[in-house]
Amino acid sequence: MPIDYHTHNVRCGHAIGELEEYVQSAVAQGMKQIGLSDHMPLVNLSQEEHPDIAMPMDELPRYVEECFRLKEKYKDRISVRVGLEGDYVEGFEDKIEAIVKGYPWDYVIGSVHFLGTWDVTDFRQAHRWEGRRVVDAYAQYFDAIQKAAATGFYDYIGHIDAIKRFARPPEEDVTELEEAALQAVKKHGLAFELNVAGIHAPCKEQYPSERILARAKALDIPVTYGSDAHHPDKVGQKGAEARELLHRIGYTHLAAFEGRKRSLISF
Ligand SMILES: [Zn+2]
Ligand SMILES: [Zn+2]
Repeated sequence: MPIDYHTHNVRCGHAIGELEEYVQSAVAQGMKQIGLSDHMPLVNLSQEEHPDIAMPMDELPRYVEECFRLKEKYKDRISVRVGLEGDYVEGFEDKIEAIVKGYPWDYVIGSVHFLGTWDVTDFRQAHRWEGRRVVDAYAQYFDAIQKAAATGFYDYIGHIDAIKRFARPPEEDVTELEEAALQAVKKHGLAFELNVAGIHAPCKEQYPSERILARAKALDIPVTYGSDAHHPDKVGQKGAEARELLHRIGYTHLAAFEGRKRSLISF
């Protein structure tokens, strides 16, 4: 892939490697653009009690500074795009808005990980599925995606069906829930990503499913590509498979972002 817009680094407490190593990995692969998009500091939980979910709030200015330093340093070799995986957590919009508006981002990813205090993507919290109707969690999750799209905080939605991660089958058909989420993405002019990290998760499938991808294409919603790398070696992972899949669905361009403006790049 010529670009990869979803990467992390050691700051979040659960990834390996400095930002510069991620940039170097993209350079080594001949990519045109690399997006740095570390997890937004926690707004709904205590950082002290959860040191391995995201960077501390006081680390955020240093993260942004380092991103911009790398953008300058590598400008002749690759275009570094400065981003953030900005969680959407219902009820914490004011805190999120302050972070989104507080820095000169190239782009901000709108990802839902939390339903309240439950991180539905965290294997350490997988026990919280017990005794719960799966379809109810899906409904709450896709409702949060719609709300995230409506905030105006984000450029694209990350791993739009990450709720499937632990491969708990919903008791009922969830096509309508997915459709409502896609309609919100369309209505608010956002893009979405093909995030390949799901292939290594229990669901053994990229985010989103082919069904959602095909529907997004029919709605003409722009797509970008994200490795969701938590190790420099994972930058661009499954790129050939991602390209083949997107071409099969009918996509010929990927969305790219600079200064919160979207452009398209052929692949
Ligand atoms: Zn992470
Ligand atoms: Zn994520």
